[in-house]
Amino acid sequence: MTHSFSRRRALTGGASVAGLSMLSACGTTMPGNLRDLDADIRNLPIIRARTDRIDRITVCLRPFRAVGPRLEVEQVGHKAVVHNYGHGGSGWSLSWGAGQMAVERAVTFSKQHIGVIGCGAIGLTTAILAQQAGAQVTIYAESLPPFVRSARASGSWTPSSRIAQTSAMTPEFEARWEKMARFTFSCYQNLQGLPGNPIEWDNFYGLTSRTPQPEHKDPIGFAKLDNRIQDIEPQGNRIAIDDPRLPYSSVHKKPNLIFNVASYSDYLLKQFLERGGRIKIMTLRHPSELTALPEPVFINCTGYGARALWQDESVIPVRGQIAWLIPQPEALCSLSYENVYVVSRRDGIVVQWMGDDMSFGFGSTNETPDIAEAHRGVSILNSLYTKMGYNV
Ligand SMILES: Cc1cc2nc3c(=O)[nH]c(=O)nc-3n(C[C@H](O)[C@H](O)[C@H](O)COP(=O)(O)OP(=O)(O)OC[C@H]3O[C@@H](n4cnc5c(N)ncnc54)[C@H](O)[C@@H]3O)c2cc1C
Repeated sequence: MTHSFSRRRALTGGASVAGLSMLSACGTTMPGNLRDLDADIRNLPIIRARTDRIDRITVCLRPFRAVGPRLEVEQVGHKAVVHNYGHGGSGWSLSWGAGQMAVERAVTFSKQHIGVIGCGAIGLTTAILAQQAGAQVTIYAESLPPFVRSARASGSWTPSSRIAQTSAMTPEFEARWEKMARFTFSCYQNLQGLPGNPIEWDNFYGLTSRTPQPEHKDPIGFAKLDNRIQDIEPQGNRIAIDDPRLPYSSVHKKPNLIFNVASYSDYLLKQFLERGGRIKIMTLRHPSELTALPEPVFINCTGYGARALWQDESVIPVRGQIAWLIPQPEALCSLSYENVYVVSRRDGIVVQWMGDDMSFGFGSTNETPDIAEAHRGVSILNSLYTKMGYNV
């Protein structure tokens, strides 16, 4: 993967467009023949948010570490192990950058043969990068997509989501995070327009409810790093809505980079196999089992599995659940409303209730679906459309 130029200038449309949108949303006449590009904020894509359209409920444990992902090198017998786990709520968004850093370390031990443990978001991208560096690569994994935890992600660009704790931040980590995020973002730009649209932009609508909401506090103190990469992220427009018939008083509209994880994982698997990659299904019970495998160096991409395999209690589970609605290709978009986050993807509509505060799911190992939580999210989304006068 190579870096490509920043597309922010092309995507934001600049201040004058934002200004015109503001005027238009407040009902001011447009000058000349200019049209309001954000007129759709009064006509959101209609998501048929009904509990009988939930086709599955999935749960995933984010592998969170207070100090951020582990990228250290360890010796296990005569084998070198490069760790690449603990990407919290940002695994897809940091995958290529983290993989690149791990491969740079691995090739110092062997450029010819590299083993990758794990076949989720991190393992697959790391394995392809190791191939691009010239190595023959074997993936060893207990599960393959779609039966890995990362297949149960919302699938959007969230590079600093639950990635570390502010109190554990170091300038070195912040710089490393920025490098990972920038590299991954540039890789995603090169993956757009592929058959099946595994990676694409949609419109995100951040809706401020007219019903006052309690502040979504962050008692954990998750690190906030996004300001370091503002120059690559489209910021969009914040638009006030003066029509009291609409249940939202303002909209933050911006382009949102999303991952159709089903087709994207399939694309990654095919890329890996076409480059001669091999996959062996196996469960490692102890790191010492690596000494029986042929490769001299391994990259450990076991995600939450690293906690048990490496006895690493610095990996803390952060439970997250998604209620999936039947896909609606005619209503692709992302939105947030009253603490519910929605990504209407080609492979399903993600509806996630975000909890009363940011500690929601922190420390929970419960991977059993909670039907009441799923119904809560879908019902809040349903109320948005009902208030707009739609019987979805
Ligand atoms: C609700 C929710 C929404 C999310 N949304 C997003 C999002 O929109 N964007 C984003 O970037 N991130 C998101 N995330 C975070 C993302 O899902 C994680 O960061 C990601 O799952 C980590 O991927 P991974 O490849 O490290 O782990 P996994 O996907 O868990 O893969 C681990 C691999 O290692 C293998 N393995 C584990 N242990 C062993 C063992 N002992 N022996 C052999 N193999 C083993 C597994 O079988 C698997 O193949 C979300 C998380 C949640 C919970």
